[in-house]
Amino acid sequence: MRLIGIASLSISALVGVSLAPPPTDQQVCEAPVVKTSQLDAWNLAGCEGEGRLVKFPDGRTGAIPEPGWTVTAASVTAVGYDPIPDVTVRRGVNGDVAVVVEDIATGQYTAYGDDTLAADIVAGGADQGESAVVPLSTNPKCDNYSYTFGNGGANGAKWIAAFPYYRKSGILIPLTAIQGGINAMANGTGACTNLSNSASASYKGTTSVSSTISSSGTCNATDFVNVVDVGALSASAVASTCTYKNSSEISYADVRFNSAYTFYTSTSVTGCTGSKYDAQGIMTHEAGHVFGLGHVSSSTYQVMKTPGEYCDTDQRKLGAGDLAGMKSLYP
Ligand SMILES: [Zn+2]
Repeated sequence: MRLIGIASLSISALVGVSLAPPPTDQQVCEAPVVKTSQLDAWNLAGCEGEGRLVKFPDGRTGAIPEPGWTVTAASVTAVGYDPIPDVTVRRGVNGDVAVVVEDIATGQYTAYGDDTLAADIVAGGADQGESAVVPLSTNPKCDNYSYTFGNGGANGAKWIAAFPYYRKSGILIPLTAIQGGINAMANGTGACTNLSNSASASYKGTTSVSSTISSSGTCNATDFVNVVDVGALSASAVASTCTYKNSSEISYADVRFNSAYTFYTSTSVTGCTGSKYDAQGIMTHEAGHVFGLGHVSSSTYQVMKTPGEYCDTDQRKLGAGDLAGMKSLYP
């Protein structure tokens, strides 16, 4: 399965990806809205066909993935807006389609917790052969161990190889912020202590390909290229990520920053002022989705909380729950 994916990716890169024409209104279907925990039980005929669209309860539409695939869109909420629910489209191997609309911020999720991982973090990863470091309790993100896995992928879908990604050429978000955010997740760089994990990423250069995230923050069909770009999103979203999962493996992920907002792009954690979002901090959050983490409530102070805040450079380093979540997915 993996070899086939790699082969098709290579061919696509060589000849260019040919995309199907946009679906017409007649091709938009409505699928049952279920909870993540109910996904195994749904069964609906008549909402089939990749390249077609499925309608969410709020009227937005998203692409229907290939059989056996799940695609999730998750966003950082802009200041002054209500939390944006994550939206997932899952297509069973028999072609049936269901959608999930959930968000930790609404209390519909139960956060995971792992006492063993918590002990690892408190000990500074001492059982990994590192010296013990006691977290600084002055930062509340260091004392909370909450994490979830990506919506619609609660079984813990993850990358089985390094995440290969491109930066859209010409965007204002610098490579330092993109790499900094992705590497913080992959390296387990914490605000008070580090906890290494086995996740990895590989920067492949710039591309003219755009992300597959729609202007309303839902996911279009994947083009098999993982891209970080800047483009149109709804005003309530600072940035969004689409992850494409097949069973327990994440195979593609795209990230989009909202072109309507101003981002702080310096590598310095001090000096941000005004109504700017910290590009690297936002990227760190989106990288969590890329690697398979879901949202936790804002009261946890974790990087994976939903609301975005201006100049929140503290988001560049992981909280205890973020570290535990990454270590759980990537031991
Ligand atoms: Zn998010």
